[in-house]
Amino acid sequence: MTDTTLFDLLERLSSLTRIWFRQHPLLAELQPIQLSALMYLARCNHYSNTPLGVTDYLGLTKGTVSQSLKALEAKGLIAKTQDARDKRSVHLALTDPARALLQALLPPDFLAAGEARMGERGVQLQGLLGELLREVQRSADVPSFGLCASCRFHRQVDGQPFCGLTQEPLAPADAGLICREHQAAEVAA
Ligand code: SF4
Repeated sequence: MTDTTLFDLLERLSSLTRIWFRQHPLLAELQPIQLSALMYLARCNHYSNTPLGVTDYLGLTKGTVSQSLKALEAKGLIAKTQDARDKRSVHLALTDPARALLQALLPPDFLAAGEARMGERGVQLQGLLGELLREVQRSADVPSFGLCASCRFHRQVDGQPFCGLTQEPLAPADAGLICREHQAAEVAA
């Protein structure tokens, strides 16, 4: 029989995370998909904070995501702004209460405690899981939503980060955000 150990471990950790979120008193009013959208918007850059970016990242239908974003807006957890150049496009930003909520929740206590007890091996595990994710994304040909600093278009111009794809300067903090246009450096020809 094919070895399912890795899958079993990942599935168990996912299920523990789901249970932890479901039981958390701060999340009594929030559905899992709404929390996922908030976590994505907290981590993505200004090219990716659109309803389509959320849809692609979560891999759900436009209708489902649209309903969730409306609910988040009604709860005062996200705010919409019109794109300065394309009036049909909107950007989504977390409000201060949403940032405070995620700050209080993440990372889940049980996971942080387990990782801390592993010490240096916890850091090694992060690296190995990141490698596994990149391997899966490469072979499945799916958007990587990787960190800007690791993108093949990321460069420094006059000492500042710069996007070679959009030909626009980036803010220093952008290097640590995820992007829907990201392409891994090793994919470059
Ligand atoms: S350098 Fe890559 S990841 Fe960064 S903003 Fe440009 S396309 Fe996105």
